[in-house]
Amino acid sequence: MRDTTKHQGLRNQLANVLSGKGITDEKVLNAVRKIPRHLFIDSSFEDHAYQDKAFPIAADQTISHPYTVAFQSQVLEVKEGDKVLEIGTGSGYQTAVLLELRAEVYTIERQHELFKRTSLFLPKIGYRPKKFIFGDGYKGLPEQAPFDKIIVTAGAPYIPNPLLSQLKIGGKLLIPVGDKTQIMTLLIRNSAKEFEKHELGDFKFVPMLKKRN
Ligand code: SAH
Repeated sequence: MRDTTKHQGLRNQLANVLSGKGITDEKVLNAVRKIPRHLFIDSSFEDHAYQDKAFPIAADQTISHPYTVAFQSQVLEVKEGDKVLEIGTGSGYQTAVLLELRAEVYTIERQHELFKRTSLFLPKIGYRPKKFIFGDGYKGLPEQAPFDKIIVTAGAPYIPNPLLSQLKIGGKLLIPVGDKTQIMTLLIRNSAKEFEKHELGDFKFVPMLKKRN
């Protein structure tokens, strides 16, 4: 697992590309400059790591576009110490960004192969979420609720109620909703019963997998 000055240069370029596309949060850009994204994908595809592309990982899943990760991270306005629930650990790249933003991260993955792989890999490169959970994101994580922020990184057919109910007052849920393409949807919990909804444009994610009984 090598990280070189060449990789660092490519990361700086990627951060410039993202900033050109409208990412203005310096903390997010610094995370992109720092995290060795090439280590999150198969080494034979290393050349692709610092282009703004999604890429296949194990179990028919993808590592999201760097722009998408940066956009979601920016919208969430993660603050130091925020308790954040992530649905869809995947490669762990978004998890690493949240950790660079100094969140306390709980991350759920539904596919065992990815769960195993990423829960071994991330600590090896120094990223330690509070908890890796092998489970069903539709249920959230009631035993650790409430959360300041909840981020979903797979395309959801609808907004799962348990996720709304596990938000703190003032908390934010960011979730791509839709079938073939998704609308990035931000829900802010204004009170116990009131949620403010913002639609933030079209994105394309792999589908959030159905519940396993
Ligand atoms: N943040 C990841 C995105 C991976 S793609 C990255 O940048 O690498 C979405 C991930 O969500 C996949 O790993 C998929 O297995 C997982 N996923 C799909 N449905 C899920 C569910 N119901 N609960 C938890 N994880 C789920």
